[in-house]
Amino acid sequence: MRYHSTRSQIHQADSAQAVLSGLAPDGGLFVPAQLPTMDVDACLKENTMDMAARIIGAMLPDIPNMPMLVKQAYTGKFATEELTPTVQAGPFRVLELFHGPTSAFKDVALCMLPQLLTAARKEKGMVDPILILTATSGDTGKAALAGFQDVEGVNICVFYPHGGVSRVQRAQMVTQEGNNVAVCAVEGNFDDAQTGVKNLFAQAVGGTLPGSNKQLSTANSINIGRLAPQITYYFKAYKDLLDAGTITMGDKVNFCVPTGNFGDILAGYIAKKLGLPVGMLICASNANNVLTDFIRTGTYDRQRPLHKTISPSMDILVSSNLERLLYFMSQDTDLVAGLMNSLNTSGSYTVPEDMKSAINAEFWGGYCDDAGARKAIAKVWEQYGYLCDTHTATAWAVAEDYVAQTGDNAPMVVLSTASPYKFPAAVLSSLEDLTTDDEFAMMDRLLEKTGVAIPKNLCGLQEKKELHTDVIPKDQMLSYVTKI
Ligand SMILES: *Cc1c(COP(=O)(O)O)cnc(C)c1O
Repeated sequence: MRYHSTRSQIHQADSAQAVLSGLAPDGGLFVPAQLPTMDVDACLKENTMDMAARIIGAMLPDIPNMPMLVKQAYTGKFATEELTPTVQAGPFRVLELFHGPTSAFKDVALCMLPQLLTAARKEKGMVDPILILTATSGDTGKAALAGFQDVEGVNICVFYPHGGVSRVQRAQMVTQEGNNVAVCAVEGNFDDAQTGVKNLFAQAVGGTLPGSNKQLSTANSINIGRLAPQITYYFKAYKDLLDAGTITMGDKVNFCVPTGNFGDILAGYIAKKLGLPVGMLICASNANNVLTDFIRTGTYDRQRPLHKTISPSMDILVSSNLERLLYFMSQDTDLVAGLMNSLNTSGSYTVPEDMKSAINAEFWGGYCDDAGARKAIAKVWEQYGYLCDTHTATAWAVAEDYVAQTGDNAPMVVLSTASPYKFPAAVLSSLEDLTTDDEFAMMDRLLEKTGVAIPKNLCGLQEKKELHTDVIPKDQMLSYVTKI
């Protein structure tokens, strides 16, 4: 299947090459020239794994043996064979995406990506090893490490800001086992780490660093190999509502998605384009409400301070995957290239009026600050007995706003992107006054208070051996990587 850059038709690739490259050579993102056709009814009759094989296989047809790859990716890694169960909580259906090996929704894609990368590598007859470089503000790093652990032909190196991730998140990363993994703290903030990684890519010639034979790649959500696996759980949630008798086939269902880089919600949009009866896609942001403003005004303006919030995975000013939506909405690579150029040079862009209307027909944007998220955590627990994390709570609050403001009473699925135990301080302090600053003690207290089980991978984390304790200045990332 033919993919091309969002910024020009010249840069083309088949789906296997698109997964290997990650980013198009002109800095654009790979998009399919034409979306595949799906037999939605047949898809909705299948179990989650077969559904995933069908959907990912349709999106990435140049990667063979998809059913086998899906089995290898997910078997034994998730707490349930359903992978992503749904739970009714009061008025909304919660789609739980956090039952994977690191308790974050990114596991759904990052368990699959290594399978896709190694199969694509084989398909293309690549002999050189791949080196995955990733900067993380917390969640992506651990999910990527777990996904790539001991995968043949691939090495992975994760950089995180020294002192810039939670204690639980750090413990998850520095205890990572595997003979192909490296984890390193960088003196600086997340932007410094991310800029450092981008610089490494810029220094690469023909995809490899000077003095190295390793082909650089990324586990970031700009890779189409991360996006494709996320489409499945929209179908799965719809199937659950059918099975529960809440809807009949063809009824529209709304989805509210806690959004950062716009990858998760874009997968929902693709599900809709593939024929799933999706109603509105509600884009939920925290105090970093650049997407809310964009959806409401048509102007994307990154020139604003970045707020540190209790939902850190959504603390983001440039949502990379929005570029793909701009392409899908316009089918015009020149227009997208112009908008992205404007974003790079002036920090903002405004889409044409007809594109804004088209976006508003499918997306609704809202945001909720930390106080609102805390209130939602307490309310959902006290009224419905459901414990949500900070990102999920943000989406919950925005979903309520949507219903109140529009009166649209179609069934609502709220996507839950992390276990509450990944953010024990913020969650516990929303329910009661804190008596400790020890995050691990807070996990125990949260268990005692709510009876909601701690995910296995987060149990006993503080007793595990720290294997990766390197801390480097930000200008030494290149020498660190060439040493691996
Ligand atoms: C990454 C992440 C998000 C945001 O997802 P995007 O695909 O970047 O929009 C939301 N919640 C959690 C917990 C995450 O880790």
